[in-house]
Amino acid sequence: MTKKDYYEILGVPRNASKEEIKKAYRKLALKYHPDRNPGNKEAEEKFKEAAEAYEVLSDDEKRRIYDQYGHAGLGAPGSGFSGGMTIEDIFASFGDIFEDAFGFSGFGTSSRRSRRVNKGTNLRVKVKLDLNEIAYGAEKKIKVRKYVTCPACDGTGAADSRSYSDCPTCRGTGHVTRITSTFLGQMQTTSTCPSCGGEGKIITRKCSSCYGEGVVEKEEIISINIPAGVSKGMQLTLSGKGNAARRGGIPGDLYVLIEEEPHPELIREGNDLIYNLFISIPDAITGCYAEIPTIDGQVKIKIEPGTQPGKILRLRGKGLPDVNGYGRGDLLVNVNVWIPKNLSREDMKIVEKLKESGAFTPRPDKDDKGFFERMRSYFNK
Ligand SMILES: [Zn+2]
Ligand SMILES: [Zn+2]
Repeated sequence: MTKKDYYEILGVPRNASKEEIKKAYRKLALKYHPDRNPGNKEAEEKFKEAAEAYEVLSDDEKRRIYDQYGHAGLGAPGSGFSGGMTIEDIFASFGDIFEDAFGFSGFGTSSRRSRRVNKGTNLRVKVKLDLNEIAYGAEKKIKVRKYVTCPACDGTGAADSRSYSDCPTCRGTGHVTRITSTFLGQMQTTSTCPSCGGEGKIITRKCSSCYGEGVVEKEEIISINIPAGVSKGMQLTLSGKGNAARRGGIPGDLYVLIEEEPHPELIREGNDLIYNLFISIPDAITGCYAEIPTIDGQVKIKIEPGTQPGKILRLRGKGLPDVNGYGRGDLLVNVNVWIPKNLSREDMKIVEKLKESGAFTPRPDKDDKGFFERMRSYFNK
């Protein structure tokens, strides 16, 4: 059987504009609409034919192929043309064309054969992580009390397979039809049956475990993989790990809110870590080695002789990994010099002696940008 020319089907010239093609298609689609021609096979064929022609001619690339090679070109693999659309496909693809005409989509036809789908509610849990777990990522097991599919009835809500009868509202069809008047004449509107939710059946004897709900409450251990670098306030989504839906729907999602356990020594600032180091006055004068805690264990760093309090030493890459994988932060060591408060009379005498010698007289280095540089390095990272 040779296929009819798409331009002929829509009744437009070969140089028709997109707007003309859309208009011609809408006219045909309304004329042969299945809800206006119930049970009319010929109208259904014409409805499908017009949709196929419109699918090709409304798409620049497909139209170009069709103009050049005809139907054969569109049959070729990779042409992106499916052909053989069902009525549902047509409404899914072109349903919006009817919106202009009626102000609503597809006469409810697209929902005629689809059942209403229940979705379970979402769950929210909090997970507290220490700095080590944040640095390396962690697998956390948490106990969640949630709705799960009822094991006794497998989520159906029925006592057994004979506990059903046809829905009296829709007589088992799952949809109800209404006649309404529009400017195009009498229209048949079909929608999902409100009594059975489109299932066509109602339960006569309910499952005794879940009382017909299809779900029961249960405590469950859920294992959560937390990536490295997360921070307080972030939320991870585990889709489908929330509450099960009533009677065989889609389960909800599980949201995991991240909380942080403060580290006893390290302060977090974004991906950087800050350590507050205290050294003695003599160590600041003579220089020393200091032990610094990091997330990978202690490291020893050198403090130069004459180091001023407030100096910030940067240990590159010793911070936290970025959650999106953009490298690692630094560990900033803030150097403080400890000033003793309760010196003995003898020690005080020695300090007084050094003071008189002028050894403790402040002599700030004019070339050292000191304070400003430290502030800049601290705030700009
Ligand atoms: Zn049950
Ligand atoms: Zn029903």
